[in-house]
Amino acid sequence: CKKFILKNHFDGMPKKTDFKLMEEDLPPLKDGDVLFEAVFLSVDPYMRAVSSKLPIGITMIGAQVARVKESKHPDFKVGDNVVGQFGWRTHTVANPDEVVSGFGEKSRPYILPDFGDVPLSAALGVLGMPGNTAWFGLTKICKPKAGETLVVTAAAGAVGSLVGQIGKILDLKVIGFAGADDKCKMLTEELNFDYAFNYKTRDITEALKEAAPNGVDCYFDNVGGPISSAVMNEMNTFGRVACCGSISAYNADPKNPPLAPVVQNAIVLKQLSLQGFLSSRWKDCWFEGIVQNLEFIKQGKLKFKESVIKGFEKMDEAFLSMFTGDNTGKIVIEV
Ligand code: NDP
Repeated sequence: CKKFILKNHFDGMPKKTDFKLMEEDLPPLKDGDVLFEAVFLSVDPYMRAVSSKLPIGITMIGAQVARVKESKHPDFKVGDNVVGQFGWRTHTVANPDEVVSGFGEKSRPYILPDFGDVPLSAALGVLGMPGNTAWFGLTKICKPKAGETLVVTAAAGAVGSLVGQIGKILDLKVIGFAGADDKCKMLTEELNFDYAFNYKTRDITEALKEAAPNGVDCYFDNVGGPISSAVMNEMNTFGRVACCGSISAYNADPKNPPLAPVVQNAIVLKQLSLQGFLSSRWKDCWFEGIVQNLEFIKQGKLKFKESVIKGFEKMDEAFLSMFTGDNTGKIVIEV
């Protein structure tokens, strides 16, 4: 079995030297144990935030699509494909009832339903955590009504690219911000966004005055920081903000955090609602989100982009690429 451990706590931008690739012998299976073999692994921005609280030497946390190779558990049979929180490792021997996520919560691996023509890797993206973050976050937190205007940041990424498309399905005007011109072109030409702007070259306020002259009703915030302050200033009365992530600050020095303009004035005067959420909030209806997004895919309404990186040894590089914006859509590592 190969695995990556956390060698150092990250200082600013994570580096390859913060990880160590190791080999390990697997223990024999006890009653209740299952041997899982990784097929696709996920890297996600939350690993940056959570890992600072984890002990050095721990196996890097995260989800994977794995196949059952041996089983001494009645609910898991050889050949089943599962999503499990096994971390960055090629093989895992575990009792499914005792698996714990990177957040320290019990997280039983789940057996994947038949996706039809959709590849298994989608279980880590559109038909998994990012897809459910987009579906539940948008519908339950932003509570959009047809005809309203939605802004989404990190719009070409795993979550953002789905949020914008679901927004179009719900008859919203959708404006995305992403960090490259080709990403913006893809959003408007392939993914049905009404507008997409490069936040590195366009002033956010000016872009919104052009694309949303009547104001913004819903903001799906993936990045935080000054971009979010600018969006909130352009919101309408009773606007809703889904605080999903703040990737603009994940690599910041905690003693010298990035400064963003004060937003309380806009929040008070426009009576905005801001709500943070974790996708795990909807764990009891997890499959409803997966079924819904699969239905949208089958109807041809929802496209999903993947940046597939081949080779388990490249987990660390794949992780780093999220912070330089090299990915479009969901990054998955194919073993
Ligand atoms: P993405 O696929 O969107 O990858 C991250 C993207 O963020 C990069 O491609 C890059 O795109 C953008 N980015 C990186 N640094 C910055 C920066 N300094 N300022 C602005 N944009 C930046 O990742 P996910 O879709 O998986 O996650 C998106 C956000 O959603 C993250 O904040 C993540 O933590 C959060 N999240 C929250 C969940 C929850 O349950 N609350 C669940 C899943 C994700 P670009 O080229 O546009 O800069």
